[in-house]
Amino acid sequence: MFQKAEEYLKEYFGYTSFRKGQEDIIRSLLTGNDTLAIMPTGGGKSICYQVPALILEGITIVISPLISLMKDQVDALSSVGISSTFINSSLSAYELNERMNELGEGAYKILYIAPERLESNLFRELLVSLPISMVAIDEAHCISQWGHDFRPSYRSIKSMIALLPEKPLVVALTATATKEVTADICELLDLRQEHTFITGFTRDNLTFNVVKGENKRDFILRYVKANPSEQGIIYAATRKEVDDLSNFLEKSGIECGKYHAGMSEHARAEQQDRFLYDEYQVMIATNAFGMGINKSNVRYVIHHNLPKNIEAYYQEAGRAGRDGEPSECFILFAGQDIQLQKFLIEQSNLNHDKKMHEYQKLQQMVDLCHTEKCIQSYIVEYFGEKIPEVDCGKCMNCRDTRTKIEVTQDALMVFSCVKRMNEKFGKTLVAQVLKGSNNKRIAQFNFQKLSTYGLMKNKTEKQIVDFIDFLIAEGYLSLTNAQYPILQLTNKAMEILVEKKQVFKKEQMTVQAIQVNDELFDKLKMIRRELASELGVPPYIIFSDSSLKDMSTKCPTNDHEFLEVKGVAQTKLERYGETFISAICDYVKVERSQTNNKVTSKTISENPDKTPSHLQTFQLFNDNFTIKQIVKQRGITEITVQNHIIRAIEEGLSINWSRIITSEQERVITDKIQEIGGDLLKPLKENLPNEIDYFQIKAVICKLRMEEIIN
Ligand code: ADP
Repeated sequence: MFQKAEEYLKEYFGYTSFRKGQEDIIRSLLTGNDTLAIMPTGGGKSICYQVPALILEGITIVISPLISLMKDQVDALSSVGISSTFINSSLSAYELNERMNELGEGAYKILYIAPERLESNLFRELLVSLPISMVAIDEAHCISQWGHDFRPSYRSIKSMIALLPEKPLVVALTATATKEVTADICELLDLRQEHTFITGFTRDNLTFNVVKGENKRDFILRYVKANPSEQGIIYAATRKEVDDLSNFLEKSGIECGKYHAGMSEHARAEQQDRFLYDEYQVMIATNAFGMGINKSNVRYVIHHNLPKNIEAYYQEAGRAGRDGEPSECFILFAGQDIQLQKFLIEQSNLNHDKKMHEYQKLQQMVDLCHTEKCIQSYIVEYFGEKIPEVDCGKCMNCRDTRTKIEVTQDALMVFSCVKRMNEKFGKTLVAQVLKGSNNKRIAQFNFQKLSTYGLMKNKTEKQIVDFIDFLIAEGYLSLTNAQYPILQLTNKAMEILVEKKQVFKKEQMTVQAIQVNDELFDKLKMIRRELASELGVPPYIIFSDSSLKDMSTKCPTNDHEFLEVKGVAQTKLERYGETFISAICDYVKVERSQTNNKVTSKTISENPDKTPSHLQTFQLFNDNFTIKQIVKQRGITEITVQNHIIRAIEEGLSINWSRIITSEQERVITDKIQEIGGDLLKPLKENLPNEIDYFQIKAVICKLRMEEIIN
C-alpha cells in the first residue's frame, strides 16, 4: 500500500519522495493505527492525511480551526486535481443541503469542517449517513487547555467519532506540543504513545536572529529596503504600535498592509487577501494575524516586540519559509518589552498558578534572547527534543563575527549620569542631560549643573537613547515596572564602576538580501501573480516559490521537462504548463540572442547581474525607458519600478525631475503637503487632482525630504 502512496505523491503533488516524518506517519496510518503527528510548521503535515485520504475508500473529514484556512486548502487541492469541499457557517441552508447530497453521492474525497459544527445535532445526524473512513484533526493542540489556542469545541470530536457506525482511522496533527500538550491530546483522543511521531522541530531553512540595542525602526527600514521583492510579516505587540509602524513605513514608500483586532472584520479580510495576493511587501500585525495563513512564500518574520513565550514565538516565526526556501526571523529585543508582557499577564483573568506559569514561560523567552548558544538548538531543546549534535551554523550566535568595540567610556558616562540623577528618571531625560539639551524639565531640576551635563554632546539624542537601550539589553541598566519606567543601575553596572571591568558592543548589524533572485525567477513570479489574479486564487496556490526557483534553474522548454520541476504533476502541467513554458522559451531566446548563442539555459540562471536591482531599474529610467517599458523588460511590477527609482534618488543619484512631474504639479503637491502634512499618502492623493498619481506624490515627498524642507 505504501507504494501506492508514493505513486500518488508523484502523480498529484509532483514530489519524488516523502520526507522522513511523512513516511513514518503514513505507514502508521496505512497499517491501521490511529496516529499523532507532531511536525514543525512547513514540515508537510497536509500530505500526511491527503495522500492516505486518496488511498482509503470513502471520505476523510478534516477538522480545521479557521474558515479561511479551509478555503485555502480546498483551492490548493483543486489545483492538483483532488476533489474536496468545506462546510462552515459561510454556507446558506440550501448550499449546505446541496453539499451534503454531493457528499452522499461520493463527489468529494476530503471534507473540511470547523469544530463548532460538531456541536449541532442535525449535522451529526448527517455525518452518520456518510461513508467516513478517516478523521484528521488539524492544529490538534487546540484540544488542550495548556495549548496556546484552546478551542472548547475540539472536545466534541471524540463523541462525534463514537457516533459513527464504523470506527474511522484518526490522525491528529500539530506543530506545537510541549509534553503537557502531547499528553493531553493523547488522552482526549484515545491515541497511543507508541503511535506518536515527533519528526523534529528543527527548521533547516530558517535563520534566527536577535537584534539588541539598535533602533528598531532604522533596522526594519534598512531590512525591508534591502529585500524589495520579498514579502514578510512584522509582528508588533499592540494595535497602536501596528498603526504607528505602518504609518512610518508607508511614509518611507513601502507598500504595507496592517491587521489587528481593532479593525473591522471586513478591513481585516481585505488586508489579509492583499497580502496573500502578493500586493503588499510587508504585513504589520498583532498576533491576531496568521493562524489562517498558509501563504508559503513569506520570506521573513520580524518580531518588533518580545513574544510572550517560545511556543507562540516559534509558531509565528515558523510562518516564514513554509516552502522550504531560505528565510529569516528576527526578534528586535528591548528591555521595556518585558515590562509590557508582564503587564499583560498581570491584567489577564488567569488564576494565580496560571499567571506564575506564564511568568516562567516569559522568562524562558527572555533567556532565549540572551543566550549565546545556537538559537535553533535552544528552541529545539525547549520542546523537549535532544539537542542536535551540530549547531545550525546559520543563526546569529553561530555566525556572529562582528567585531566588538570597546565602549567602556561611553557606558561610564551613562552610568554616572543615571546615578547623579538619583536613579529617578527615564531614559529620555537621561539622554537629554548627556546631550546637553536646553529644556524646561532640565532647568526645573537644575540638571545643567551636573558634571555629566553635555558629556555626550557630539552624539545625537537618538544615538544616546539607542545606546541606553543597548545597556538595558545587556543587563547593565534596568527599568522599573511602572507607567513611566525609571532607569536604574544593576549589579553588572556596579562591577564596571567599581571593579573597572570593560564594556563591549558589537558593530551595527549589517542587513543583506535574503536571496539573490535571478531575472527569470522574478519574471515567473510576475506571471504567477497575473495568473493568480485572473483565477482569483493566491499566487502560492499556483506554484510555490521553490517550484519557481526550480523552474528558473531547469528552464524547461517542453512538457516532459516541465514535469521534472519540483511540485509539478499532470494537473499543474495541463493548467499552467503552456503559460510558463512559453515565457521561459521567450526568455531563453532573448538571452541567447544577446549573448551570441553562447549561453546555455543553465548559465543564464547562474549568472545574475550583480548590480543591485533598484540601480538596474534606475539606469533604464535614465536611459529614457518609460516605466511601462521597464516593467516589461525587467519583469517586475510597476510599484516596484517606482520604488526602485525613489530609492535610487534617496541614495543621492540625480534625476531629471521633469520626467516625473511638471513644475506646476510639483507646486500643487508641495502646497498640499504643507497644508495637511506628508505623513500619509492616502489623504494627499484624495485631496489632489485625479491625474496626480501616488508615484508623483512619493517623488515630491522624497524631494522635499532631500531638501530638508520636511522631515
Ligand atoms: P505544514 O502544514 O506542516 O505547515 P504544509 O503541508 O503546508 O506544511 O507543507 C509545507 C510545504 O512543503 C508545502 O509547500 C508542501 O507542498 C511542501 N511539501 C510537503 N511535502 C513535501 C515533499 N515530500 N517533498 C517536497 N515538498 C513537500
